[in-house]
Amino acid sequence: MSDAKRHELDRRGFLLGGIAGAAGLLAAGAIDAPAAEPEPRVRRYVPLGKTGMKISDISFGSSRMSDPKVVRHAYERGVNYFDSAEGYKGGRSESAIGEALHDVREHVFLTSKTKAEASTTRVEMMAALEGSLRRLRSDYVDVYFNHAVNEIDRMRNQEWGEFTELAKKQGKIRFRGMSGHAGKLVECLDFSLDNGLVDVILTAYNFGQDPAFYQKALTRFDFVALQPELPRVLKRAHEQGVGVVAMKTLMGARANDMRPFETDGGTFEQAAFRWVLSNPDVDALIVSMNKPSQIDGYLAASGTSTVTRGDRRLLDGYAAKNGARYCQHACNVCASSCPRGVEISEVLRTRMYAVDYRDAELARDDYAKLGTGASPCLSCDGSPCAGACPNGIPIAEFTRDTARRLG
Ligand code: SF4
Ligand code: SF4
Repeated sequence: MSDAKRHELDRRGFLLGGIAGAAGLLAAGAIDAPAAEPEPRVRRYVPLGKTGMKISDISFGSSRMSDPKVVRHAYERGVNYFDSAEGYKGGRSESAIGEALHDVREHVFLTSKTKAEASTTRVEMMAALEGSLRRLRSDYVDVYFNHAVNEIDRMRNQEWGEFTELAKKQGKIRFRGMSGHAGKLVECLDFSLDNGLVDVILTAYNFGQDPAFYQKALTRFDFVALQPELPRVLKRAHEQGVGVVAMKTLMGARANDMRPFETDGGTFEQAAFRWVLSNPDVDALIVSMNKPSQIDGYLAASGTSTVTRGDRRLLDGYAAKNGARYCQHACNVCASSCPRGVEISEVLRTRMYAVDYRDAELARDDYAKLGTGASPCLSCDGSPCAGACPNGIPIAEFTRDTARRLG
């Protein structure tokens, strides 16, 4: 740990000590005001693979955020790892992070991402990185990811390897990684691990993607384990000393549906986080943080990784309620069912942004990147893809709905 970092943690310890001291005076009747509840904050910092970084177990995702005040609130609650990408909010997420954190740069870890395709040149990649650095108001990012990789050729592109080596030498990036959440996720992760192309991976992972959960739930719900290889790859990465960060941990984020069932004092989100963090192969998670009250609710789960009986009840309930309406994008069993080449899992991911996250801007931006998207579905009777989803998703109904909403 650097001296600056230690100083910062000491300072926080001092502030907390000050709060504890004030509480003591209150107990002695020396101060009249009532003692405040201790504020939620990060309670655990974890090593990120063998990078030497120690990051907040619950960290900042910014795909739907462009407000510096929200970023600063997270920092003041102890969050020290801020994930971003050039494409989030058209660069405004990075700008917000830069504005909020440039004066404390040495106390935080910043990441960004670019979509380096199979044919992207290293000059183009460097230009993308430099744009991110300008918006982040920093000379370097701690981790730079190839964003949303779903084709091995994108990682096989030698320009990516050469660009990241050069950027490391120039001090513009410290570590490199791959992020992914779609059908060929496992294949791409295996390739990247085989070839030493990643220091950190950022991967979709939630209680809906691990067979261990559904083996227990099979007797009650009509589910199959759709991504059985993912835990194996996470373990492999962990054993190689590659940092593992989870995202999309809420399985669709229809959290408001669960509020009436949160009777044991914890929330659905806290239960889902504990489930993810209970896997020793996962170092930390990021989650979209969009307002201060939401951050405080999330951080109440920091430092806890034991799934309680109440947590499991909430997760079971959520799965029962949403499972048949939730596309587990990375499974991609339906991929070859469409004769017109609709990328069903990608279309359904954009629908999730629109319907579940209620983020029309993100949904439209990502849908626009899909070319024709789901427009062929509007003139198709849906028979080729009927029954193609083992999870029971009515594909044609959902893809047509997406085309109408976002086309
Ligand atoms: S629609 Fe069904 S089969 Fe296709 S990716 Fe989603 S969950 Fe998997
Ligand atoms: S509705 Fe038709 S065009 Fe759309 S995904 Fe299904 S088979 Fe393909």
